Order: sequence, then C-alpha cells, then structure tokens
Amino acid sequence: MPKQLWLMVFIHEDLSDYPYRDLRDQFDWLISEIEDISGRQMTLTFVPSSNSPELSSYDYKNSDAASALWGWYDKIEAYKASSTFKFDDNLHKFLLLTRDNINSGVAGIAAPTGHYAIASINHRAPAHEVGHMFDARHDDYEVLYNGWWDETIMAPGSGFSSLRGNANRFSDKNRDNIREYLEQFD
Ligand SMILES: [Zn+2]
Repeated sequence: MPKQLWLMVFIHEDLSDYPYRDLRDQFDWLISEIEDISGRQMTLTFVPSSNSPELSSYDYKNSDAASALWGWYDKIEAYKASSTFKFDDNLHKFLLLTRDNINSGVAGIAAPTGHYAIASINHRAPAHEVGHMFDARHDDYEVLYNGWWDETIMAPGSGFSSLRGNANRFSDKNRDNIREYLEQFD
C-alpha cells in the first residue's frame, strides 16, 4: 500500500468565527479528487486557531507575497521540529487558510511541489494552492464546456471570471501531473 497523504489546514485566527461547515465544503471534493487520482488515502485535518496560536496568528498580509510565504515556511519548519512525528515533505502538506487575501492582487501562494502554502477562502484559492503543492500547473488548466464554460482549478490569475464558472476538478493534464508527482514516492 502506498503511504497516505495528509493535508493539515491551519485556520487563521481571523477565521475563528467562520462556520466550520463552509470551510469543509471547499475541501471535501478536493480530497476525493486527489484520492481518485493517486489511489492513496488522504487525511484532512483542520487545526483550530485555538490549538496552534503560534501559527494561526501569523501576519500573512504582505505586499510581497513571496515574503509572506517564506515567513510561513519558517513557522512550519519550527512546528515540524517541535513535533515527534516524522513528517514527509512530499506527502504531508501544510496550508494556512485565511479570511483575506495576502494583498490586493494575490489570494494565495504556494511553493510548487513544496509542503507549505497560504490561501484565502476566496473563490478557488485553497484548492488551487493545494494543487501547486502536488505539482499541478497553470499551463495545464482547461476550460470545459458543460452547458457553460467552466475553468478547471489551476486557471491562473485572480481566480474569478464573471463569464466562466468553476469546474471543481483538475484538468486531465493536471490529473496526470499530480499522479506522476506522487508516483515518485512510496
Ligand atoms: Zn497558481
């Protein structure tokens, strides 16, 4: 059996009063999709802000989104170092989920194939950034016609077009990218 995947979603303190069920809705289809693609089980853990004040209070708003991501990386490395669990950066991913965007132009950011990302709850940012961590790419997004034109999750840009809907899935090419990325690992 291949090893399981694990997505830990740290709820920023600015979302502490947000309905939990609404947060789950953004992730349930995503977990099923990645499980189908990879043939692995994927565990989703929401970490309430009260359980990790050090991480959930992270000051993520930054005119330089890359700086925000590096700061988050430092937090995650400290968190991993303080744990007795041996994390695998290829399979265990850490997302900071926030109420607001990082800045006026950036709703989320991830290191491609990295284990750390930040995403606001806006539009498709959480699924998009999780996609990046599993090697999904902007170039391989598609517009699907299903009575209307829907963009798949890795469409670049602000992540919202009033003329196109959201296909809550990855394109076939990105499904292949995710599968090939994960096939490298036991
Ligand atoms: Zn992107």
